[in-house]
Amino acid sequence: QHYLQRIAVIDPQLNSYVTVTTELALAQAQAADQTRTEGKAGVLTGIPLAHKDIFCTQGIKTTAGSKMLGDPKNPFIAPYNATVVEKCLNAGLVTLGKVNMDEFAMGSSNENSFYGATKNPWDFDRVPGGSSGGSAAAVAADLAPLATGTDTGGSIRQPASFCGLTGIKPTYGRISRFGMIAYASSLDQAGPMARSAEDCAYLLKVMAGHDAKDSTSVDRPVDDYVSQLNQPLKGLRIGLPRQYFGHNGLNSEVQSRLDTALQQLVQLGAILVDIDLDTTDAAIPAYYLLAPAEASSNLSRYDGVRYGYRCENPTDLTDLYSRSRSEGFGDEVQRRILIGTYALSAGYYDAYYVKAQKVRRLIQQDFLRAFEQVDVIAGPTAPSTAYQIGENLDPVSMYLGDIYTIAVNLAGLPAISAPVGFDDNKLPVGLQLIGPYWSESKLLSIIHQYQ
Ligand code: GLN
Repeated sequence: QHYLQRIAVIDPQLNSYVTVTTELALAQAQAADQTRTEGKAGVLTGIPLAHKDIFCTQGIKTTAGSKMLGDPKNPFIAPYNATVVEKCLNAGLVTLGKVNMDEFAMGSSNENSFYGATKNPWDFDRVPGGSSGGSAAAVAADLAPLATGTDTGGSIRQPASFCGLTGIKPTYGRISRFGMIAYASSLDQAGPMARSAEDCAYLLKVMAGHDAKDSTSVDRPVDDYVSQLNQPLKGLRIGLPRQYFGHNGLNSEVQSRLDTALQQLVQLGAILVDIDLDTTDAAIPAYYLLAPAEASSNLSRYDGVRYGYRCENPTDLTDLYSRSRSEGFGDEVQRRILIGTYALSAGYYDAYYVKAQKVRRLIQQDFLRAFEQVDVIAGPTAPSTAYQIGENLDPVSMYLGDIYTIAVNLAGLPAISAPVGFDDNKLPVGLQLIGPYWSESKLLSIIHQYQ
């Protein structure tokens, strides 16, 4: 009730929720109380959370921030729960609702949502980041203590950074993608967003694990992230890529907050090591070919026939396809479908798609080489703090803001973003730590001890 009341008062301004599941939340909370009375409660029983509206929820509309699925006349209501949703329910977590996002997770500011921009709780004129901007804003404004997010190229870490939260993108394959609406399947990964690394550890433990329904989820035991939060930091080697620091695009206040945070990690026992990640500049072009290529294939299912938005009075099948997709998808989604289709088309496939795949492999090898020298890599999460709504609408300049996050997805590595202070506008600054495969518990433990 506490959270539902706060949502009712604050969210009309913030616009973080697409759907508030009031009755369901109260029923689940009551059931949690019952479980508690019976002495069967787990540690998260009765704790509320918000799901990014990209996770399918049985009986509750799932929109992915798009008119294609959210059309008020015919919203998409999944007949099943995403595995993440199911696991949260099994842990006793209470679903408060579904939160806003950039359409099909394409964006960095939440301005690409059919439901309008979500505001940053630290400054209502600014963006919360994206694409999991609704998740970040809801937790930062205390309209939920925890939220799920997804990260294809930074969508958990960058909104966490813009809203002063901790968010972790796990190793690709750590969490099931079953029932998570696909954007770029080889990059998409779910993860928790919360106020602290400790809270993230609790939620990640619930979300992670192999799932027979997702062949890319990995059959490997899930670490006990919570009990491993205090791993010794003495001698921890933190790599500082020369290509990340002193880069002309990096805001000087962000740089200075990061320097302070790194010195605090040194006081906790860490050692700073300068390293190179020579492929840094190749990540944006590779990602913005590969992700749209996968998206163009994934989004071909929205054809106006099987489900989703259908245009009025189509004259023939071609008209049905083309008008349903033109009216149902927003500009950024259409741009990416066009780019992706072009990159995959005969004659261009080798020059663009195959080339980008080769670059992707080089980026991965670059990270693996770095991890022979250091235990984790530190850097900014984003080049700046949250910008004004409407300030950064040019697609290319928006893409350039992903410079520090997307290489991690191309390599499939885990990475965490954590708040390390505020800039002169009192906006949160985020530090990113990138680890080797399956190092989630180490990343959480470093940030936990810093916090
Ligand atoms: N900002 C990136 C994009 O627009 C990443 C989005 C994401 O991680 N879903 O594609």
